[in-house]
Amino acid sequence: MAIKAIKGINDILPDVVGKWQLVESVARRIFSNFNFQEIRIPILEKTELFARSIGETTDIVEKEMYTFPDRNGQLLTLRPEATASVVRAFIEHKLHLQPAMRKFYTMGPMFRHERPQKGRYRQFHQINVEVFAMDDPMVDAEVIYMLLVFLEALKIPDIKLHINSMGCPDCRLPFRQSLADYLEGVSDKLCADCKRRRLTNPLRIFDCKVDSCGKLVENAPVLLDHLCHECEKNFQGVRDHLDSLAVAYTIDPFMVRGLDYYTRTTFEAITPHLGAQDAVGGGGRYDGLMKALGGPDLPGTGFAIGMERLILLLDDKAGAATDSHNLFVACLGEEAKKKGFSLVQELRLSGLSVEMDYESKSLKAQMRRADKLDATHVLILGDDELAKGAALLRDMDASTQEEISLKKIVEELLQRFKLEM
Ligand code: ATP
Ligand code: MG
Repeated sequence: MAIKAIKGINDILPDVVGKWQLVESVARRIFSNFNFQEIRIPILEKTELFARSIGETTDIVEKEMYTFPDRNGQLLTLRPEATASVVRAFIEHKLHLQPAMRKFYTMGPMFRHERPQKGRYRQFHQINVEVFAMDDPMVDAEVIYMLLVFLEALKIPDIKLHINSMGCPDCRLPFRQSLADYLEGVSDKLCADCKRRRLTNPLRIFDCKVDSCGKLVENAPVLLDHLCHECEKNFQGVRDHLDSLAVAYTIDPFMVRGLDYYTRTTFEAITPHLGAQDAVGGGGRYDGLMKALGGPDLPGTGFAIGMERLILLLDDKAGAATDSHNLFVACLGEEAKKKGFSLVQELRLSGLSVEMDYESKSLKAQMRRADKLDATHVLILGDDELAKGAALLRDMDASTQEEISLKKIVEELLQRFKLEM
């Protein structure tokens, strides 16, 4: 029996790859306008990195990570997210000593053992953005703005922005107590997971996907009503700056995000078009993370976008090939095939997209293949033409053909296709 890919881990076939390339190139263009630099980080890290950063009692660490010992018995994890690795790299390479390196982006696969469904996979891809050592609320507003500009550039429809504040340890600690008190009163109605969460990490209950817990949470106290003065002022600052950029948002006091490291402003870009998987991207501030991972006490903020969800939301035609010229070289006879073989390479080197067949088929069969390949032109090399030092160029759309000399064929084709030499 043929071996199949692992469930929830998908191939990306050439017919959609144009969409991926579009998303990547728009990201590079826009992020670089905002002065972000690309960083590339490993896919495998020590398990400890994620356990310490994401939080031991989050869903990701408790039940979603691909963790295994390597041949030396070291516990490794396929990264479930990128922020922890970017922070690790920043610390490891002492990038805080290099003031030019504060704003990063990275793209690539992430791994989470979740139930595969539309918009949710076990290997999925993210675009991540991180900003270090800047805590002005203007930076939060700018990062959110960049996310929206990016989604807008890709013409993703009906995006809504939700924001919340996760406060700081100063306000979270007393809040945790009042939440715990509330949850104690309703503990018999909580799902099994939340019964445990109530004692280990009560805030996580806001992220529970079980309906009955969602109902209980509606009446729970929220952190937003318990922010300390500094966090309150900071959140107001972010909102003022969003207003000044004319960014519309909804304040969602129930949004806690799935990772423990968030502080202060968090946000999500939501779509109504993907069913239950409504978050296209999300992020927030994580001011204590760098210190917790053994680095300098520098603040951070950022976001992650789910690329598969973006691709599902793109217009059908987005990323379709825009190559306006595609040449097929049809050869009739052995002599012509030899000539064609070297001519094809020469034309490719000069910048044209060119294909030929290696089997000796009839002209009719070769024309059919040219048509399948969407060739705009076919160059026909036959023994008769070769003897004259010429070839026939057929325009597939116009269904016309004319003889052109082989002497200056490259210049001639480039000129016709209006391509630079
Ligand atoms: P969700 O609530 O949908 O599980 P999340 O809060 O776990 O999302 P993050 O960890 O913030 O997601 O990751 C950022 C983005 O990555 C999400 O907004 C989503 O678009 C995408 N994403 C997360 N998990 C998956 C997955 N299993 N498959 C595909 N995309 C995903
Ligand atoms: Mg999740």
